[in-house]
Amino acid sequence: MHEAGLARGVARGLRERGLSPAQVRLAVRGGHHDPREFEAELRAHLTAEMPGDAAAVASMEIRRAVFGHLCPRCGVEFETERVAPVCPACGVDTVAEITDEIVEIELLAAVR
Ligand SMILES: [Zn+2]
Repeated sequence: MHEAGLARGVARGLRERGLSPAQVRLAVRGGHHDPREFEAELRAHLTAEMPGDAAAVASMEIRRAVFGHLCPRCGVEFETERVAPVCPACGVDTVAEITDEIVEIELLAAVR
């Protein structure tokens, strides 16, 4: 499953850099299904990958970053962190630039 692969990548990234989940937050861009479901799945898979860090994974911040959308009717391009938004100009369903979620690790020390 997509979320399992992403969780494996995050766990590997943390291990390679010697980081604990408590030291980072995740930034998610893209997607085409319910963000809350996605985050719950990602957290569950990450807990399975890092059982010793279950508490830190449970309280880990997962934020949504903006990504691009295109309106197939009027051609408007815009950015939002929302999944499956309608066109702000004409209200039809838009096409997402990123349909499968991308997850990036952000160091909390580097965040203002
Ligand atoms: Zn439009």
